[in-house]
Amino acid sequence: MSLQIVGTIGAGLFGAIIGSFLNVVIYRLPRDLSISNPRWSMCPSCGTRIRAYDNIPILGWLWLRGRCRACRAAISPMYPLVEGLTALSFVTVWDALFVGQVHGTWASLIQDWPLLVAAWTLVAVLMAVSVMDIDAYMLDVRPLWLCMGVGAVMLTFWFVSRGDDVIPRFFSMVTGDRSKGASVGGLVPLPPSLCLVGAVMGVMWVLTECVRKLVAIPATGDDPAVETQEPDVSTPETESKREPRFQPFPVLLLAFALAALMVWVIGDGMGWIEATEANALLTIARGVAVCVILMAAIVLSSLTHRPVDDEIIEEIEAERDAARSMVLREFAGLLPAVIAGGALFAMMKANGQLGLPLDALPLVGNLSGAALQAAGGLCWAIAAIVGGAAVGWSVRIGGTLLFGKEAFGSGDIYILAAIGAGFGFWAAFFALFLGVLLALLGVVLSLFGKTSRAIPFGPWLSLGALLYLWLAPDLLAYFQPAIATLWDMIIGRFP
Ligand SMILES: [Zn+2]
Repeated sequence: MSLQIVGTIGAGLFGAIIGSFLNVVIYRLPRDLSISNPRWSMCPSCGTRIRAYDNIPILGWLWLRGRCRACRAAISPMYPLVEGLTALSFVTVWDALFVGQVHGTWASLIQDWPLLVAAWTLVAVLMAVSVMDIDAYMLDVRPLWLCMGVGAVMLTFWFVSRGDDVIPRFFSMVTGDRSKGASVGGLVPLPPSLCLVGAVMGVMWVLTECVRKLVAIPATGDDPAVETQEPDVSTPETESKREPRFQPFPVLLLAFALAALMVWVIGDGMGWIEATEANALLTIARGVAVCVILMAAIVLSSLTHRPVDDEIIEEIEAERDAARSMVLREFAGLLPAVIAGGALFAMMKANGQLGLPLDALPLVGNLSGAALQAAGGLCWAIAAIVGGAAVGWSVRIGGTLLFGKEAFGSGDIYILAAIGAGFGFWAAFFALFLGVLLALLGVVLSLFGKTSRAIPFGPWLSLGALLYLWLAPDLLAYFQPAIATLWDMIIGRFP
């Protein structure tokens, strides 16, 4: 057994355990229950504590045949499904980073583990918020904040551990040396000056929020913690009544997922999936296959029409009159950050500093060694978060002003910011476009079964991010000349 197979199986098992924990989060967060208390899982129907051997991911549900051991109430197939799909997502991240080596030279576990931690945290959180979004068109942004924090810390670690490699490439974009490639692995960074601007904007935004909390100005139209105000909290009793019959689709899907995993492991043993150029297409095909499975899961979940589907449309229509003024008020809250970032940008532009490397910029220029590397990583991470959020805010504010109704949920903005923290700024940028394309495809596929017009967008954004993880080198290589030309125009350097 190669190290890759051991790693893959380990990633799958770890993902299944995390998926089991996500089920707890998905059930308890919208019901305002504590995540850590009680420490054990309970049957949602009768409250009986679930025994350790019945609580084994996926298998427990299978050998209980989807019923509670004590009261025989049906246990939703969502539980094993979330566990199976989380395992699959963890394997696919491991695959992309360390087996398929989609992102080029970054495949040393000793040096690159922070990337793995950030990416796994992101896919786990995306899984949880996607299920909550599908469930009730409501997503809790607290896990996304956690994801941003982990991403920022991990990227800082990574810059320190990979500094000698990363920092020179990080600089090659601004020194105009295209031959080295502006991409750092698959992670094309923003230029250091823009990372600094982004970091300042992020800090300014946090300060603004703190001041607002202190003065207690009512924030935005939304509660900051929760996207829509009243989650559809079904009591355990109605839930068990609502799902008495056996649903074959999720089980089928799970079988697909496990079969894919088997193919993966067998293929690895036969050497199909070594990271050679001949296998590059096959590598991407693996990632795309996983995304197709996840896509099927989202489409199938939208096939049943629920009351909450109508409620969300009524809600958006009811808020229609107030939508424009709502986003304008939200924009006012962003103004201090925009002004601070704009001022720093203008100052650096006037001093000809936009094209300089990190150690020649204001604020961080006096640092050296590990401190400079850490500052670079932190600036990069915060800028990726701010950049992802900025993409989302632009769509939300622009779209709402244009169409006069809420165009892009505020929860989706947090998702884009978290994607920036886990996979980098360009991941957030491309996840939006890939997410829209995938969602359109999903709408077409579900036309046959679904009677509602509402689409929870969170799952599609998440899927777009996972797809980006696989397509990044190709997408970035394609758009690199345009990005570079744009940057030359911004700093006034014409070739
Ligand atoms: Zn029970």
